[in-house]
This record gives sequence, C-alpha cells and structure tokens, in this order.
Amino acid sequence: MRTGKIGLRSFLFQRHVPDVPTPRCSCGLGHETAYHVVVECPDTAETRGTLRRQVAPAALYSRRDFAAALSDPDLAATIVRWVLRQNRIPQFTLATCIGGDIGEQRHRRERAAWQSLKANSARHIRVEVAAPPPPIFI
Ligand SMILES: [Zn+2]
Repeated sequence: MRTGKIGLRSFLFQRHVPDVPTPRCSCGLGHETAYHVVVECPDTAETRGTLRRQVAPAALYSRRDFAAALSDPDLAATIVRWVLRQNRIPQFTLATCIGGDIGEQRHRRERAAWQSLKANSARHIRVEVAAPPPPIFI
C-alpha cells in the first residue's frame, strides 16, 4: 500500500489493464489511490469515521498522517483490512468475505501470544539459569 502498487484503478491504469479505462475514482474527484480512498474520497466517508477511531490516536487527515500510519505495522494492517472491506479491489473481495473475521481474530491471537512471549521471555531465561538440571549419580 505504501508503494501504491495495489489493485486500485490508478495503479491498474498505469499497468494498462484492459478493463480499466481511467485512473479516476468513481467519485470523480481524483485518481483512485490508497491515499484517496483512505483520506479523501467522499464515497468512503461514511465508513472512514470507523477507521479513524480504530487508528486513534494516530490521525488520518493528510499525506503525512497517512505515511506515518502505514509505517506502523499494526495501523497498516488495520488500514489494509478497511480498504479491502471497501470492495475497491475486486480480486480481494472473495478473500475478504472468507477470511475477514477469521483473519482479524487470528491476527489478534497471534499478537497477544507474541506480546505474552515477549513479556515473559526474561522471566523464562532467569528460571532456566536458576534451576539447572539435577546431577546424575551412577
Ligand atoms: Zn473517490
């Protein structure tokens, strides 16, 4: 998404995809880029409030905000999931239907497991050092 090489009209038009005659968004106000869809497009304004609440306290009002949000892996994942739910990228629509909720639940589980492992790793190392295996007498 950061590179703009995503299946939105602007990129597909640049790549001369036959069924994409224009880079313009269906709203008519700009090229259909990730930035336009996430920050500017009036057609996504209704759900944009939800996205802004999800990424808060980070803001999504300018190119600088957008770039900063995409440099954070968690915020970037949230933004990508939101863009996929906008049904602007037809090749991902089926994947969103199938994996949307499951993918989000899995992401939360993996993140919680990773944070738990990170928080406990120092304690585990100390336990191993403090409790060496008992000597073996033959
Ligand atoms: Zn638009």
